[in-house]
Amino acid sequence: MRKWMRTLTITGAAVAVSAIFLTTTTYGRSLQFVAGGALVNLGYRMQDHLTSYDFAAEHAHDITPEEIWEELVLQNAKAAGVRRKFPRTARHPLVALVACMDARIDTNELTGDTRKYYYVLRTAGSVLDDKEAEMLELCVENGVKLIVLTTHTECAAEATAANKELHARYPALVKAVFDRDLRVQQLLSRPAIAERIARGELAVKRMNIDTMTEELRPVGGEGQVGEQASDK
Ligand SMILES: [Zn+2]
Repeated sequence: MRKWMRTLTITGAAVAVSAIFLTTTTYGRSLQFVAGGALVNLGYRMQDHLTSYDFAAEHAHDITPEEIWEELVLQNAKAAGVRRKFPRTARHPLVALVACMDARIDTNELTGDTRKYYYVLRTAGSVLDDKEAEMLELCVENGVKLIVLTTHTECAAEATAANKELHARYPALVKAVFDRDLRVQQLLSRPAIAERIARGELAVKRMNIDTMTEELRPVGGEGQVGEQASDK
C-alpha cells in the first residue's frame, strides 16, 4: 500500500513539474507550439495517402458535380461538429498573408501555426485587385503589422501568362499576372499603408514559396514570370 502511494506521489509530482515546465517556461511553451504543429502535421500525413477518400478515386471518372458537392457537405458537417466541441479562441492577427489559390499550398503548414493567427488572402496568381488592397488596408487598421505577399513555384497562373498560345483564352488571368508588380506598388502607395511603413509600424515583404516544401524564399529565383511585363 505504501509503495503504491509512493508511486502515485512520484507520478503526481512528475506530472505537476511537467505541467509547470510546459506552461511557465519559454522552452515549455516552445515545445508545446512545435509539438502542436507536429501533431497537426501527423493528421495531414495520415490523410495524405488515403486515396480511397479522394472524390475521383472513390467514384472513378463518372462522379458528377452534384455528387462531389454532397460529399463536400458531408465532410464539412463532420469537421464543423468537431469544431463545435472545441471552439476557437478569438485572435487578433498581426500578419496578413497573400497567397495563390493553388491547393498544394497550405497556409497552416507554411507558418507551422494552426491557430489561424493570420489573415489569409488567396487569389489566382497571388494578384491583388482593388478589393484585396482595400481588405489589406482594413487588416492594417485592425492591427496587422506585417503583410507578406507571396508567389510560388510551379504556379499555373504564371505558366499560363508565360504561354502565348493561352493568352487569347485567358486574357484576364494573363493580364492579372503581368500587372502583379503594378498592383503591389499601388498597395504600397495607399496613404494609410505608406504612412505606417514610413513610421516603422508596418512591414511588407515579398517572398516566393517553394510549392513542394512550402519554404519561403526571397523573390527573384527561377520561375518568376511576368514580374515586370505589364507592357507585354
Ligand atoms: Zn499559383
